[in-house]
Amino acid sequence: MLAAGERKIVIGFDMETDIGSWTAGDRGVKEGTPQILRVLRNHRVPATFLFTGHVCRSNPAVVEAVLTQGHEIGNHTMYHETVGTPVYDTIGTNFVLDTEVKGRLELATEVIENVAGVRPVSFRAPRLFGSTAMILALEKLGYAVDSSFPAYFYGRDFLPYHPSREDWSKPGDLRILELPVFYDPEGPTQEKNRSRDQWPMLRLKGAAWFSELCLKLLRQVRDAAGRSMLCVYLHPWEFVEMPATIRADEATISFKAFLHRNTGAAAVRALDEFLGRMKADGVAFMTMKGFAAQW
Ligand SMILES: [Zn+2]
Repeated sequence: MLAAGERKIVIGFDMETDIGSWTAGDRGVKEGTPQILRVLRNHRVPATFLFTGHVCRSNPAVVEAVLTQGHEIGNHTMYHETVGTPVYDTIGTNFVLDTEVKGRLELATEVIENVAGVRPVSFRAPRLFGSTAMILALEKLGYAVDSSFPAYFYGRDFLPYHPSREDWSKPGDLRILELPVFYDPEGPTQEKNRSRDQWPMLRLKGAAWFSELCLKLLRQVRDAAGRSMLCVYLHPWEFVEMPATIRADEATISFKAFLHRNTGAAAVRALDEFLGRMKADGVAFMTMKGFAAQW
């Protein structure tokens, strides 16, 4: 159990194809990951890298680099498919039936285990589209921790909890630990409250603003609960400059600005500054698995 007054940040990178996995490219995984690893190494910060089975299988050298540096490998589904309930509108996402969820997650687990040589015990659902069927499948597959709960959407606090087997959004008696993704409770309430979601504030608003928010929330949670944690999530493609538009044979996709603004060198600098500010304030970083063992 964490000691009284401790403040922790769990930082996770969702290792998927580029621009929110809306494209088939993996420049982020190939070119962004080395930048992330360099910054983490400089600050001696451990992190969890949640791979899709697909990206894991096609980038074994990246998986090895992550493991060599002592970070954790987790699961982000097989092909970034939707394994839960959407909390915002999307076009062209691949849905699976509740009855298919366990098989899909099992497949991704095996693919990742085969490449990495370690069985993943940490999970995050693509786009934070989670469900009770998903959490029950993860429990059965032996997962220790899930971080798919979009607290901004449910308007809930973001303290870790053991979910109920009837409703994953409520506390209950499952063994798996849920790490809600935090949000800015005072942020604007546009777009089904997505504008309050932690992601992608670091890149859009900058490290100084994001660090202040984190320190404020860590203090508030600690004062209320005696100990506190925040779960920060990012993506490797944010650390490589991403285009506003991509063209394929049959369609052109134009991305909203928040998906590509400040990607590349600006994002690398923001991560570096954020980690420096947190460490200077005495905040400690942990992997998802490490944190679940101690909470
Ligand atoms: Zn994702």
